Amino acid sequence: MCGIFAIYGHEKAARITYEGLFGLQHRGQESTGIVTSDGIKVCKDKCKGMGLVSEVYVETNKEAKEGRVALEDLIGNIAIGHVRYSTTGDSSAKNAQPITVNHKGNVYAIAHNGNLTNYEKLKNELENQGSVFKTSSDTEIILHLLVRSKKRSLENKVYDALNNVRGAYSLVLMSKDELVAARDPHGFRPLSLGKLDGAYVVASETCAFDQIGAEHVKDIAPGEILRINKEGEKSVFLLENQHKFCIFEYIYMARPNSYVFNEYVHGVREEFGRQLAMEHPVKADIIVPVPDSGTYAAWGYSQKSGIMLKFGLSRNHYIPRTFIQPSSRSKSVELKLSPVKKILRDKKIVLVDDSIVRATTMGKIVQMARSAGAKEVHVRISSPPTMHPCYYGIDTPTKEELIASSKTLEEIKSFIKADSLGYLSKEGMLKCTRRNKKEFCTACFDGKYPI
Ligand code: SF4
Ligand code: MG
Repeated sequence: MCGIFAIYGHEKAARITYEGLFGLQHRGQESTGIVTSDGIKVCKDKCKGMGLVSEVYVETNKEAKEGRVALEDLIGNIAIGHVRYSTTGDSSAKNAQPITVNHKGNVYAIAHNGNLTNYEKLKNELENQGSVFKTSSDTEIILHLLVRSKKRSLENKVYDALNNVRGAYSLVLMSKDELVAARDPHGFRPLSLGKLDGAYVVASETCAFDQIGAEHVKDIAPGEILRINKEGEKSVFLLENQHKFCIFEYIYMARPNSYVFNEYVHGVREEFGRQLAMEHPVKADIIVPVPDSGTYAAWGYSQKSGIMLKFGLSRNHYIPRTFIQPSSRSKSVELKLSPVKKILRDKKIVLVDDSIVRATTMGKIVQMARSAGAKEVHVRISSPPTMHPCYYGIDTPTKEELIASSKTLEEIKSFIKADSLGYLSKEGMLKCTRRNKKEFCTACFDGKYPI
């Protein structure tokens, strides 16, 4: 789970990247960085920090204390930026992105969303040949492969590098005067191209374009390597492969206002809710979304069932998302959510959420609703049981920690102390998108790993 952003040909490159990263903050909150270039000099020192976008960047050098980045120092009209949640490599400043290398008078910087599956093997091979790695992030491997390429153009160097890696990647990469955006041949993670004041912009999700007022032009295609320089744009393509768009982007990850894999996320989420209502109807007084991730599915459930939607849980927005904050998980539920007692008292309620991972969170929420006076609590989940870990860039815990991998539906129901529990079926979920169902990765539900 990471967010990436890039811009080419704008005098306020750093400032716009900073604003774009705000729009992608939901994809990662551990660290952030921006690298810029004016065509000659690449600004890559003091460009990263731990924490949120709002915590890391300041306007002027004078305000830039330890670990802060001054936007005024990031000069140039090309920039790439990143917000990170670690999948490979620990959460530390040295693994913050963009990652840069100097090589024979050139500088390359990269920001990556995804996870490379043959990273260990490649790293081993390169280390045996004398390569020295400065991070424990899988992303660095792409730079090592890139500088080994004998090709002259940047797009062909990137092609050579990506031809060797396997797994999920949407990435942006820059040299001092060129920008590249690329997506793996399966297209696991989204990546979109836009325009702003004549400049090119690239982002993990189109919501970043809304944030800066850019127009969405197209998606970077699976397997596409798009290079932008002063001559314009050029694409080369990796060998085509079966599309495997991550369905979890629709379920949980992407922002509702993003246009992902050719559909609005909120629309798909509402459809999940309608389908869920058909598959698992229940007699109840109100539908209560678990905010924010369950909101759109709950709305769809309410529409289909004809049962009124009521906001019976109120969310404090100043606590990080439970899923994203690995420590103090159960405590943060009570900090984050509060019951609206007047709405819940004496009601039979349907709680709708996007997924159940360990089930500790859902257990607390059910308990919270009951203490607020709810008579019956029925839980409905707008995705199938999460049974297998993801190796393609979404941070799920190990198989042992995923409750659905070892417990039956009935056992999970008892564990969370719900009156009933219903998950969306895999077939039902896939029916909710306009695409062919073969085009989606569903490995965390069925264990069928495409790579
Ligand atoms: Fe997405 Fe699940 Fe596939 Fe990972 S395993 S890419 S979360 S669908
Ligand atoms: Mg949630």
